[in-house]
Amino acid sequence: MKITKQKTKAAGLAGVIKFVEKRTAEKSSTLAIFDLDGTLFDNRTRTIFILREISEKFDSRVPALAAAFCKFRNLSIVDYSLDVTLARLGVKARLEIEFIKQEWAKRFFSDEYQKYDMPLPGAKAYVERVHKAGATVIYLTGRDVGRMLVGTTEVLRLYGFPVGVAGTMTIVKKEFEQDDEIFKKEVSEYIDRLGEVAAVFENEPANSNILHARFPAAASFFVETQHRPGAPALAAGITRLKDFK
Ligand SMILES: [Mg+2]
Repeated sequence: MKITKQKTKAAGLAGVIKFVEKRTAEKSSTLAIFDLDGTLFDNRTRTIFILREISEKFDSRVPALAAAFCKFRNLSIVDYSLDVTLARLGVKARLEIEFIKQEWAKRFFSDEYQKYDMPLPGAKAYVERVHKAGATVIYLTGRDVGRMLVGTTEVLRLYGFPVGVAGTMTIVKKEFEQDDEIFKKEVSEYIDRLGEVAAVFENEPANSNILHARFPAAASFFVETQHRPGAPALAAGITRLKDFK
């Protein structure tokens, strides 16, 4: 049975802004939680850029990948799984695949390559509106401090997202190996003490369900980009978005 949540719950993207403005006028603290990968940013461009670099730099070691770029046409070839992407690009030799995966991981999970992510349409403008309305914008991401915090901050600044200033917070993992879902569950205990969560944005169904259950009064949005295969069904009451337009 679908239960209508608290009357304070904001409806739609515009509803969140109105709700935050109302609370700000009442001098009350609100929070908006945004995941990064697959939510505010499309990571497919990062992967394609990295694969292109590997194909040029190591062209004799990765002949099938180098050949694939002669006929590469669009980003829809990039899947959540690198194995699937490489299969679609016609890379079949085990040693070539292993080598590419190793070189890809070195780059993908590093500060230097995050600038090749592309913000989702409307993402920057919407986060800016939420911030201006008075909510504390929390970037809650499974990226880790050691390898990715600097690049994360850099790319947010590059595209003009509010970052580093009053009313913003970036929360990343201490250790890369930490499980994403457990990390988000634990952090939500902390976030709950900071103020009223007005909205939550995610692209992983499992995380979306966890955060929706943890903050039932918040407007919960699921961004339909890419997510882990075999994900659970999305809980009732979560709004689906294509982008932030
Ligand atoms: Mg994500």
